[in-house]
Parts: sequence; C-alpha cells; structure tokens
Amino acid sequence: MALIVQKYGGTSVADPDRIRAVADNVAFTRKRGNDVIVVVSAMGKATDNLIALANSVSNTQPGREMDMLLTTGERVTAALMTMALADRGIDAVSFTGSQVGIITDTAHRKAKIIEVKGDRVRDAMAAGKVCVIAGFQGVSTDREITTMGRGASDLTASALAQAMNADACEIYTDVTGVFTADPRIVPQARKLAKVHFDEMLEMAGAGSKVLALRSVEFARNHDVPLHVRSAFTWEPGTWVTNEEASMEDPIISGVVTDMSEAKVTVFGVPDRPGISAALFEPLAEANVNVDMIVQNTSTQGTTDISFTMPMADMADAEQIVSRVASEIGATGVSHDNDIAKVSLVGAGMKSSPGIAAKMFRVLADEGVNIEMISTSTIRVSVVCAADDMERAARALHTAFGLDSGADYSAPLPERK
Ligand code: ADP
Ligand code: ASP
Ligand code: MG
Repeated sequence: MALIVQKYGGTSVADPDRIRAVADNVAFTRKRGNDVIVVVSAMGKATDNLIALANSVSNTQPGREMDMLLTTGERVTAALMTMALADRGIDAVSFTGSQVGIITDTAHRKAKIIEVKGDRVRDAMAAGKVCVIAGFQGVSTDREITTMGRGASDLTASALAQAMNADACEIYTDVTGVFTADPRIVPQARKLAKVHFDEMLEMAGAGSKVLALRSVEFARNHDVPLHVRSAFTWEPGTWVTNEEASMEDPIISGVVTDMSEAKVTVFGVPDRPGISAALFEPLAEANVNVDMIVQNTSTQGTTDISFTMPMADMADAEQIVSRVASEIGATGVSHDNDIAKVSLVGAGMKSSPGIAAKMFRVLADEGVNIEMISTSTIRVSVVCAADDMERAARALHTAFGLDSGADYSAPLPERK
C-alpha cells in the first residue's frame, strides 16, 4: 500500500462540481488500496477576494489579523471536501495547518516552516481515515496562526509528503503539467515529461506560478519527487526530480514570464560607500524580496538606483524607500507597475556561451526595449514593458526551438 499526498489548487476546487470531481478522484485512489493525504487550496479566487475585502475595510491590516482572515479560505474547502468524501463512503477528517502541527516562524504572511509534527495525521491514518488538510497555513512558535506566502499550499503538500514519508506527492492543477512556457501566454508551449529540481527552482524563482518557489526548495532539499498534473484531464503530468539531465536534453528548457513585480527608481543618490546598504537593509528587515538591482554610472557625484520587487510588498516598501531617500539626500523616487520580467531557463546554458547575446538579438528584432538584465548560471532574465511581455515570450520560445507543432489542447479553465 502506497501513501500518496494529493494537493488540489484553487481552480481545481473552484465550485461544488469541482469539489465532487476531486472527491471522486480521492475516493478512486483510496479504493485502489492507497493511503491518501489531501491538501486543498481556497476555492477559486477566494484568497484574492479576502484580500480585497481587507483592503476595503482597512489600510492597516496587521499581519496577525490578515492570517486569521486568509486561512479561512482553505478551511472552507477542507471541510467541504471532507463532506463530499463522506458521501462516497470514505472515512475522512479535515484539519487546519495548526491542528496537524505545521510549526512556523513568526513572520505573518511569509512564515517559514520550522517543523511538521503530524501526530494527528498519523493517528487518523492509523484509524484508516483520509486526512484533508487546509493548505497554505501553520501555527507559529508564538502560537499564532500564520500563512506561508501566496501559492504555499504547494509547500504544505511537499512538507507533509516529507514528514509522512509519502511515496508520491501529486500537485493537481489546471494545466496538464510543467510546460516550456505558460500555455496561457505561449499557446505553442510544450509539456515537459520531467524537469530537474534545479531548473524548476530557477523557473519558480523567475516567477513561474505553476509551483511555488519554497515548495520546490523544500522538495529538492528533502528529495521529495513532485508530480505536477491536471485535475481536469487526470492524465500523467510532469515529474520534478533530481534525475540528472541527459545529453539529448535541450539547452533551454523554458521561457518564464512574470507580471507580479514593480520597478522602483531612486534618483540623484549620492555616490559614496554605505548608500546601497542604507537603502536595502531596511527593505530586507521588512522582508521585502528585492529581485534585480541596477545602479547607473555616477555623474557629478550622484547616481540613480533601480530595483524590482513584488508589487504585493509595495505598501511596506514605499514608506521605507521614501524615508531612506530623504535621509540620504536623494532627489526623488518613482514606481513603475507596468513592467514584466521574461527569463530563459536551462541547465544546458552552463556549457553553451552566447545564449544571452542571442536572447538580446531576438528581443531587439521584436523591437522590445530591455530595461534591466540579470543572470545566473542557468537563467537569463530581462525586464521590459508589460505590453511587450507576450510578444517577447513567444518570439524567444520560437527562436530557441521550443515551439510544439500545435497550440495547447487541454481545457484551460477560466479562473473565477
Ligand atoms: P493552482 O491554483 O492549481 O495552484 P496556479 O495558478 O498556482 O494553480 O498554477 C497553475 C498555472 O500556472 C497555470 O494555469 C498556468 O497558467 C501557470 N503557468 C505558468 N508557467 C507555467 C509553466 N511553465 N507550465 C505550466 N503552467 C504554467
Ligand atoms: N490560497 C492561497 C493563495 O491563493 C494558497 C494556494 O492556493 O496555494 O495564494
Ligand atoms: Mg499554485
């Protein structure tokens, strides 16, 4: 008998029909003799709606109260799923993250897992029950309810799979696997049968939403293979593992697009030691994830510094940046939300020079202006205008030989 962790994302459980369809799959897995632990996300756009509700009530939004609010989304799905399983004669029980002992640090909305106790899951499984666990959440060392960042139900699944020593961790979503690009943006994207953890880490880090970054980090660090697959077609998907690439693997495995970041520029910054530290230290302390940084050459003793960071952190960052800018005597600050990041990822880049040059040529031929560039050993990223993103991604996908012969064929459910 195998133990399978199955995580179902928001679109997969968006309405009563979807919850029943997923319950059928859980019941089916169970009746084939497997133990099942189910991890669920909030239904459809429930988390976005709760955030919008908070925005319409308050400008303050203490982290503790936001987490009290946001964790309710997953809790609703877990209870409903358990009821749907009861209809199918499956003895199931729902739990919150706190009830199953997902212990985190105290950073509300971005908490990190310290330990997964899992006693109640073990006890329930020993009693023959299917456990249905509300994803995305835990309880802090201060005994407060926490959430672990957007998309973190993926992390709940990989952490439980590791803690319970599961045989498989299945991430069910609304596409049929991990593709060479987001099929909603590049219809000619191709499904990958397998992806190495390192590449998946770069893809997630570059902003691909298909798997949350921390779940990939966790899975890689604990060697938990992930199977990303569809809760709509149920066909086999993509395996994310530590299996080494073979010689025939392509140099580039994917194009990643990300619209979730904003660009901040601080103008007229005095060019002297300590200025960058003065700006970025307080942002780091506030847990703002600064991504790319560009500092222009200094003219007449001053320079401009631009950086990108998640739009979602802008409220926190704005205050810090304006305070520091006036402390250091900078002349101004600007924000630009209409930017996008486009990245090429591929383990083969390590041994193939000229990838960045070719990327810049393709973008130039498309008339796409590059605003910022950053690289790692297996990734090249550029920032461009948001309006150029789709064109840039499709052109790169074609130029690097990634196009499939046909457009994406499985249903692409609308996100409600
Ligand atoms: P879930 O709610 O199931 O967690 P997400 O929205 O977090 O789903 O992730 C699935 C979405 O990720 C897909 O609908 C797709 O638009 C997007 N996506 C981005 N990059 C990729 C990629 N390389 N392969 C597949 N899907 C991708
Ligand atoms: N519901 C949470 C979110 O929308 C967590 C998740 O779906 O993984 O970010
Ligand atoms: Mg997700």
